[in-house]
Parts: sequence; C-alpha cells; structure tokens
Amino acid sequence: MRQAICVGGAVDKRIISERALPGPVIDGSRCSGCGLCVLVCPTHALDMQDALAVVTDPNACNYTGYCELICPHQAITLLYEITHVSKEVKDDAD
Ligand code: SF4
Repeated sequence: MRQAICVGGAVDKRIISERALPGPVIDGSRCSGCGLCVLVCPTHALDMQDALAVVTDPNACNYTGYCELICPHQAITLLYEITHVSKEVKDDAD
C-alpha cells in the first residue's frame, strides 16, 4: 500500500517536504520504450535513453502521476500518493 503525503498542512510537515519526494521508479524490465510517459510528463522529469524511460530530473517531478497512469506495462511506480487536507479541515475534525 502506498503511503499518503499531505501537502495541505494537516499532517506534520517534518515527514517529508514536497520537494524531497522521491521521483518515479521505473522498472526497466517492464518498459517497452513506447515513450508515452515522456510525452505526458508536464515537467519533463522523464526522458528516453537507450530506448528505455529514465528519470532524468527527479527534482522536476511534481507527482501528477500521469506517467504511472499512462504506462501500458505498469513499469512506473510513484512511491507516495499525494493528498490534500487543509489544516483547517483537520483542526475541525479534532
Ligand atoms: S510509458 Fe511505460 S512502457 Fe512506455 S516508455 Fe514509459 S515506462 Fe516504458
């Protein structure tokens, strides 16, 4: 199960900052080299090298998850799920 990261302030920020999130993980044994993930990445964090997708700029990744969704071979995994719960909502629930 993927760990959720809150960017809205409801969860302790010391867990991980948005910029420190690890980029997508690509399983080269599953990648067919179709290039779809590179095409859909809005921040150009991915590129093709030797006919395989690679994360060339992990700091550019903003976790849209488009690469993971579009990959026809489930070769890409984002390690965290981004959620947004505002601090105000959390405080109301407490
Ligand atoms: S979408 Fe999947 S199969 Fe296609 S290049 Fe990217 S990782 Fe490889």
